[in-house]
Amino acid sequence: MAWYCSANSNEGLVNNLKTAKIFKSEGVEKAMKAVDRKNYVSQGPYNDTPQPLGFGATISAPHMHAYALQYLEPFLKPGMKVLDVGCGSGYLTACFSEMVGPEGKVIGIEHIKELVDMSRRNIQKDRPGYLESQRIILVHGDGRKGYPEESPYDCIHVGAAAEKEPHALIDQLKAPGRLFVPVGVKSQSIYQIDKDENGKVTRKELMGVMVPYQNMLDDIKYENF
Ligand code: SAH
Repeated sequence: MAWYCSANSNEGLVNNLKTAKIFKSEGVEKAMKAVDRKNYVSQGPYNDTPQPLGFGATISAPHMHAYALQYLEPFLKPGMKVLDVGCGSGYLTACFSEMVGPEGKVIGIEHIKELVDMSRRNIQKDRPGYLESQRIILVHGDGRKGYPEESPYDCIHVGAAAEKEPHALIDQLKAPGRLFVPVGVKSQSIYQIDKDENGKVTRKELMGVMVPYQNMLDDIKYENF
């Protein structure tokens, strides 16, 4: 169903995702309409499929971005703080920033230096001033460890698959806070891991996905394929 959401324009794509009920929040619609995918990926920006970014990574399909924004939406209110692990093109990082607004802060962390540079160029062009004001901070580093310097976070999104539940990331969530993470090696499930106001952690399996092996978070990819 989601794959039929492709369109010829950013607005058409977002309208199709809404009609397909991938998201329902007005805030998600506004953010996805404000951030044009063509500024983050050179080929097929409005196709509802993953696209190569170079350096062995891919930008996720628009329906996956829409799901992530919708599931995290209660933790993307104005002024909130977000960590985007494996920020790749910077597209979703920019959408998060639209949702948390100028008082909020989004940290994108990516382990491929060339992609950090690419996301910096993309955001510089598409959202001028966001990097200077530190509304968005882009970091070159290993996202498995999170980014304790800016923790705790209202929510953490992981764009790459983890072998197992990433405890360092759960530790860096606020109480309450929410983590969205694909977990698994040969195939994955996306988990929503919630920390409540007392610090109690619960998990909910949202859906099965197939993450390309280049987009595994862990070094285990080389041992297991
Ligand atoms: N969310 C991004 C990219 C998704 S692909 C987008 O949609 O554009 C997953 C990304 O995670 C890739 O860019 C990959 O380089 C990155 N990644 C994989 N393992 C990582 C790690 N340990 N630390 C930080 N980034 C990582």
